[in-house]
Amino acid sequence: PKYVYDFTEGNKDLRDLLGGKGANLAEMTNLGLPVPPGFTITTEACRSFLADGILPEGMQEEVSEHLAALETAMGRRLGQADDPLLVSVRSGAAFSMPGMMETVLNIGLNDDSVHGLAKQAGGNERFAWDSYRRLIQMFGKTVQDIDGELFDNALEELKDGRDDLELEASDFRRLVATYKEIVRGKTGEDFPADPYQQMRMAVEAVFASWNAPRAVLYRRQERIPADLGTAVSVCSMVFGNCGMDSGTGVAFTRDPGTGQQGVYGDYLQNAQGEDVVAGIRNTMRLQELEGIDKPVYDELMRTMKTLEDHYRDLCDIEFTVERGKLWMLQTRVGKRTPGAAFRIAVQLVDQGVIDLDEAVTRVTGDQLAQLMFPRFAEDAGSKVIARGMNASPGAAVGKAVFSTGRAVELAGQGEAVILVRRETNPDDLAGMIAAQGVLTSRGGKTSHAAVVARGMGKTCVCGAEELEVSAADRAFTTASGLVVSEGDVISIDGTSGAVYLGEVPVVPSPVVEYFEGSGDRDDELVRAVHRIMSHADEVRRMAVRANADTGEDSARARRFGAQGIGLCRTEHMFLGDRRGLVEDLVLATSAEERERALAALEPLQRADFTKIFQAMEGMPVTIRLIDPPLHEFLPDYTELSVKVALAGDAVEEKDRRLLVALKRLHEENPMLGLRGVRLGLVIPGVFAMQVRAIAAAAKAVPGSRPEIMIPLVAAVQELEYVKDEARQILEEAGVDALIGTMIEVPRAALTAGQIAEAAQFFSFGTNDLTQMTWGFSRDDVEAAFFAKYLELGVFGVSPFETLDRDGVGGLVEIAVERGRATRPDLKLGICGEHGGDPDSIHFCHQVGLDYVSCSPFRVPVARLEAARATL
Ligand code: ADP
Ligand code: MG
Ligand code: MG
Repeated sequence: PKYVYDFTEGNKDLRDLLGGKGANLAEMTNLGLPVPPGFTITTEACRSFLADGILPEGMQEEVSEHLAALETAMGRRLGQADDPLLVSVRSGAAFSMPGMMETVLNIGLNDDSVHGLAKQAGGNERFAWDSYRRLIQMFGKTVQDIDGELFDNALEELKDGRDDLELEASDFRRLVATYKEIVRGKTGEDFPADPYQQMRMAVEAVFASWNAPRAVLYRRQERIPADLGTAVSVCSMVFGNCGMDSGTGVAFTRDPGTGQQGVYGDYLQNAQGEDVVAGIRNTMRLQELEGIDKPVYDELMRTMKTLEDHYRDLCDIEFTVERGKLWMLQTRVGKRTPGAAFRIAVQLVDQGVIDLDEAVTRVTGDQLAQLMFPRFAEDAGSKVIARGMNASPGAAVGKAVFSTGRAVELAGQGEAVILVRRETNPDDLAGMIAAQGVLTSRGGKTSHAAVVARGMGKTCVCGAEELEVSAADRAFTTASGLVVSEGDVISIDGTSGAVYLGEVPVVPSPVVEYFEGSGDRDDELVRAVHRIMSHADEVRRMAVRANADTGEDSARARRFGAQGIGLCRTEHMFLGDRRGLVEDLVLATSAEERERALAALEPLQRADFTKIFQAMEGMPVTIRLIDPPLHEFLPDYTELSVKVALAGDAVEEKDRRLLVALKRLHEENPMLGLRGVRLGLVIPGVFAMQVRAIAAAAKAVPGSRPEIMIPLVAAVQELEYVKDEARQILEEAGVDALIGTMIEVPRAALTAGQIAEAAQFFSFGTNDLTQMTWGFSRDDVEAAFFAKYLELGVFGVSPFETLDRDGVGGLVEIAVERGRATRPDLKLGICGEHGGDPDSIHFCHQVGLDYVSCSPFRVPVARLEAARATL
């Protein structure tokens, strides 16, 4: 295979092979934008290296050829003593993982070429030595695994309170000597002076950084597959750190927080690479570059326009100015807040850039879900203690903590915490995940904290500069001198940037209010959501239903756009003060007693169903007959034994009989026991009573469309008994209803062809089906071993969260195929938790289900994802 692509050879569609960075560097090169020349080593080479522990055969030769060509084109050799070519070795995977992996700049410098570099820059010794010390620092940390603090501390010591701009050539020269000492001390060897060796080592280190713990953690969080590998881009260096006429910056073509088109970015004069996002000095707003260097600024604006037009979306960029010349170092379609995603998609439609179909693909169900989070009540103004930038939306309340360690520790104890830092770095990732929200005192909307929090959908306020944050004191001080210490509750508003002392009450999201029918239609976000959702409803093939057990929930589900009830559980109809009636049912010794108990339950059930039918106004309502084992409705065995024992001779007759019944009903493994259809067959009359209640309710509400669903069927014979009885009751009542079954036992999926003879519809109960397919007890696994399984990579995400396509999904496919073979008009749906999960919804679409059913709150998400699945 070809392992190395020159920037002129690639393009943006090769991201799997060249990584996002490499593919887009190539794209920009081909657009004629000023990109420093270079080449990219493929992810395939990385995968091979990670698998075998050595670079794949032939790769080095290819790299050498490309490097030689680069040297010829640039007219300098790598690290050439009198006139060196320097390069950066940059990581870049197919999915952006900001700051997760490594990049080394200034490769090619050593004690000789540092003089050549100074000469190139017109005798600028300061710049050359600054670049050299950066190389040793980055190389030491990244390639040689030396604790970065050692270098940072040495720099701080040398600065002795001075700004980095006040440092001189001699300072950096001394720093180079100190850094080399550190390297020698830690590795026992001299810093490698050979430029080619530097490059080789850096490439291998970047490959290896794919498996750095924080990268592994990030991928798990973001659900990025673990086996993709990273590409490596080798890019000739340009320098923003060679004077005040140079600098480096980052920018967005639109505001990633709101979507507004304009100029958003940060710029830092006389600086290199990460300096902008690392917050070493306060950056200036990008607009100020216009006053510093108008021609460069104008070219940058033109370039950003070119990129937006080309990518037809918000782009973010990294650029460097070297003595008045603009260089583009990176671009990608930029991350954005959920609100901005909806607004930008609709803005682009209005601008005629994309059509509504594409707009629907530009937003996700997860983003919509985030917009449905509540926000703070407006009237909390008096509690504001600081303001920062609104980096990532949402409302977060929790105890202030000042280190990742504490965040993880307290969150582990169930506490809500807010991670407060001066600035975050990739080592803070675990703390950010554990926290409800993140607050920093430094850095802008492009800082690490902001970028990562937005990616995770975590509330973040950054750059609250009036705060003095001290990790050592575990406290921060506000401008007015207020001290907030670890454990004090604060609230942060990622939508406005406000920081509050104490707990602030929250109010619902405008998007939820819109779904509820009371929203402000003039709000730009609401309008954007409305347009996208309206179009989504037009293009999707699958219907969306809700799981709802009460009239209230059903009404809410309808307001959220549900087209029916896919799962109405009847269990709760046996709880509360109705427990006594269930007890009577269990204790009944004669048919007569049993009938009496059932007769008492029937009107209650009828009233419940009536409310649901009324709320649904003629939409289909799937009612599942009683499913859990009976003893779930009865008193606890141990408690009752104690009660009976204490009562002695004075024991009540009912308690004594109940205790006997409980003992009889006891099961070691109730989820595999007497429940669902088995219960219906063993305890006569229960299902019949439920069907009578359904029929009566349906008659009371004309136009109702009941669908009766029998749970836990494994064999068609089970279903036939229940179906025949139900059919008879319905006929007597003169009510028409579909009768179908859940497919939630593997045997049912495998014998779906037979079951479909007795069932008019299937609804996949994927919670039980997952449990039974894997042989996992859903109630126990999370605590017992799922964490370990996730860590080992047995699965990337819990199969109870996202449908396991290979296993459970395979059974679903079999059941769909065999069921439809028997009965072509078989109606197919899903009612497990997975019905609201985006990936699972796409699967349901692909295998041809007619609808998904999920909790009312997830209904909008399912509507959107069902549409996205068709596009
Ligand atoms: P990341 O993915 O963490 O952004 P990058 O590979 O983009 O890592 O590089 C880190 C920083 O170094 C960025 O600010 C980038 O713009 C800068 N940089 C990378 N390569 C060069 C180069 N050849 N010349 C100048 N700056 C560079
Ligand atoms: Mg970058
Ligand atoms: Mg079930």
